[in-house]
Amino acid sequence: MTSLMPKPENSPSASDRRTAIVVGGGVIGTTTALALQRAGWAVTLIEAEETPRAASWGNAGHIATEQAEPIASPAMVRGFAKRLFVRGGALALPPREIATWLPFSLRLLKAARPARYERAHQALAALLAQAMPAWQRHVAALGEPDLLRPDGHVVLWETPESAARGLANWQAADTGTARFRPLTEAELQDWRARVRAPIAGGIRFEGSGQIADPTRLAETTTARFVADGGTRLVARVASIGDGEVRLTDDRRLTADQIVVTAGVASAALLRPFGLKAPIIAERGYHLQTGPDVDWPADLPPVVFEDRSMIVTRFAEGLRAASIVEFARAQAKPDPAKWNRLRRHITALGLPIGADAKPWMGARPTLPDYLPAIGRVPRTKGVSYAFGHNHLGLTLAPITGELVAAMLEGATTATPMQSFALERFG
Ligand SMILES: Cc1cc2nc3c(=O)[nH]c(=O)nc-3n(C[C@H](O)[C@H](O)[C@H](O)COP(=O)(O)OP(=O)(O)OC[C@H]3O[C@@H](n4cnc5c(N)ncnc54)[C@H](O)[C@@H]3O)c2cc1C
Repeated sequence: MTSLMPKPENSPSASDRRTAIVVGGGVIGTTTALALQRAGWAVTLIEAEETPRAASWGNAGHIATEQAEPIASPAMVRGFAKRLFVRGGALALPPREIATWLPFSLRLLKAARPARYERAHQALAALLAQAMPAWQRHVAALGEPDLLRPDGHVVLWETPESAARGLANWQAADTGTARFRPLTEAELQDWRARVRAPIAGGIRFEGSGQIADPTRLAETTTARFVADGGTRLVARVASIGDGEVRLTDDRRLTADQIVVTAGVASAALLRPFGLKAPIIAERGYHLQTGPDVDWPADLPPVVFEDRSMIVTRFAEGLRAASIVEFARAQAKPDPAKWNRLRRHITALGLPIGADAKPWMGARPTLPDYLPAIGRVPRTKGVSYAFGHNHLGLTLAPITGELVAAMLEGATTATPMQSFALERFG
């Protein structure tokens, strides 16, 4: 029984209800807390930050249903050198962080071997196929259907060669439930009028989408959780035992189930259970304007693929995001990454000026680019959901639903073995 649990009106008394503590209030934690609450659990959500600035709220907002192929793939390994930051790409391996990224990269190389990659691909595709329907259920349950814009996205290329290569790559790719078509000449002209760089080609995806407003998503999800009787606690979890959570101020809370959804911090919290989670912080950077920006509110996210940069129009402004920097989560941000973003923005003539707000956050990434969702073996009540890398926003509602089903002992639509941490030995 969590000691801080209020008793909601017209509901069974707290002593009749099963209790859960969710550790970490990013998008995975908040959607998981809501899903458990809907399944009848009395839930306490513990988040370390009063105003979280984690990856969940600084990401590109893209519901990326088209990314059905795990990033740890033979193709990724072949293109590794070309993607390096020092060669103009988005992949940064800072020399002073070598102790962090070298062991991770070796595991990534193993995970990218064809047989293991193909298994991961099947697992990810099955999960991703449920992402958009789960999002639709989530925003409907919040009473905020317009938070989800399932209007697809655009990919642009700036040279005839990159357009031909990029189109061929997408044609050969598994795009899951998303489909694409080439942009019409009129659409290309519109983009040429909007950005300064030459646009040689592009495609329009359908079946993908975006979140209209990350701040409203955070606020309405939390508000609904609290209104329905959930407890949100701003505190840092120091350690977890079977059925017990200890906070850094030494308070202890107990519950029937504890779910670890703490992003990159999850691995350390699970270590005492002997579980290996070789996670890395894949750090991304963004620059964002205020709401008054000369960019139509109804334009979908646009990926400038030659620059590995995505530009998304949110209600609160225009955001340009890029960079994959393998490092410790707590290492200082590198201003060179924002400078690279600024150079792309200037080259494209985007309306993101010197006053744009810089942000850096960490994608929680495991070497095979599959999330970790499962129960801690040989415990009565500890489970986890983290490691969603580039797809955490996309996969948040389906993850919450799967965790709720798993804790109910129900059969899940997706086989869960591929996501168990035991895959790392
Ligand atoms: C630049 C960038 C762009 C991205 N774009 C997209 C995109 O377009 N689409 C997409 O699907 N994904 C995208 N992602 C990935 C996505 O943002 C992440 O996968 C997702 O946010 C992970 O969510 P999370 O809740 O697991 O972790 P986090 O967002 O890291 O949240 C974890 C939370 O746990 C809390 N916490 C940690 N330790 C403790 C503790 N001990 N006690 C209490 N609380 C704790 C933290 O404060 C934090 O709030 C992007 C990421 C980046 C960086």
